[in-house]
Amino acid sequence: MRKINYPNTLMRNRFVIAAAAVVFFAAMAVSVFVSIYTDNTDELKESTRGLFCAHFIDVGQGNACLLSDPDGKFMLIDAGDNENSNYLVKYLKNFDVEKIEYLVITHPHEDHYGGARDVIRNFDVEKLVLYKEYKDTYPYDVLSYVLEERNENSQTVLADFGDKYTFGKAEFEIISPENPDLTNYNDSSLALRVKYGDTAFLFTGDAGKNMESAMINSDCELKSDVFCAGHHGSSSSNSLKFLKIVNPDFIVVSCAKDNEYGHPHKESVKNFGKIGATVLETGKNGDIVFSSDGKNVKLLAMRKNPLDQETSER
Ligand SMILES: [Zn+2]
Repeated sequence: MRKINYPNTLMRNRFVIAAAAVVFFAAMAVSVFVSIYTDNTDELKESTRGLFCAHFIDVGQGNACLLSDPDGKFMLIDAGDNENSNYLVKYLKNFDVEKIEYLVITHPHEDHYGGARDVIRNFDVEKLVLYKEYKDTYPYDVLSYVLEERNENSQTVLADFGDKYTFGKAEFEIISPENPDLTNYNDSSLALRVKYGDTAFLFTGDAGKNMESAMINSDCELKSDVFCAGHHGSSSSNSLKFLKIVNPDFIVVSCAKDNEYGHPHKESVKNFGKIGATVLETGKNGDIVFSSDGKNVKLLAMRKNPLDQETSER
């Protein structure tokens, strides 16, 4: 009766506790994985409530990032191409967007502005932000016209280097270099750094390496938690020097799966690896949503490739 072997019991208890811990953490890992991917829009919407969020929307071979602040304000950076605008509009409606405080178009290429007409037709865009030197280009004329027709109180804002704007409790600064190469739309992309508390998100449109160098030389603050890869991950952008200064935890490549340009290019992927960032692609991961509490940024959710799932609706 009294021959209880305490040391063995203790060992057994320790083993049971250790095994339980392994099972618990394995279950946690699975649940984190499961909760990151969701097909449930309501669940995704609920998880963003009260947070500052950046939604990289899967618009195929193009860019569109919706920023939402905790008080329900919205800002859209680029609008993808016209072909994918149905999905973009649907995504925005799912998030109860009615008013868009800023619609920023980085440069007048179809894969960035093409969906903007439908966005303007479906939502109250208050300010359309364009680079000042492009005010008379065809796409911008069309957008300004559509905007005026929809909302006569709207404004077209002609942005320049160093301009700062307030967006709810966040702010953003235009950091594209002064006097860009106007013969090349990519190299005169509006670049902006959005700051929320101590966290930041960086967008450089399709600006190339020479513009990245100019941004470094301009002494602008570049350090950011999330970087939207330059030019859809092309090797013409994303220099290692620039990436090291931005030093993001996350890089999002906004491009279609198996796109004809081969984005993201190997050289860029190598550079992303060298700085140790987590790289996500809209073409592979679908919509990618980050949240910020002003101190830390976290990957909140991903919604599996709607382009593959909803082809009939697009
Ligand atoms: Zn582009």
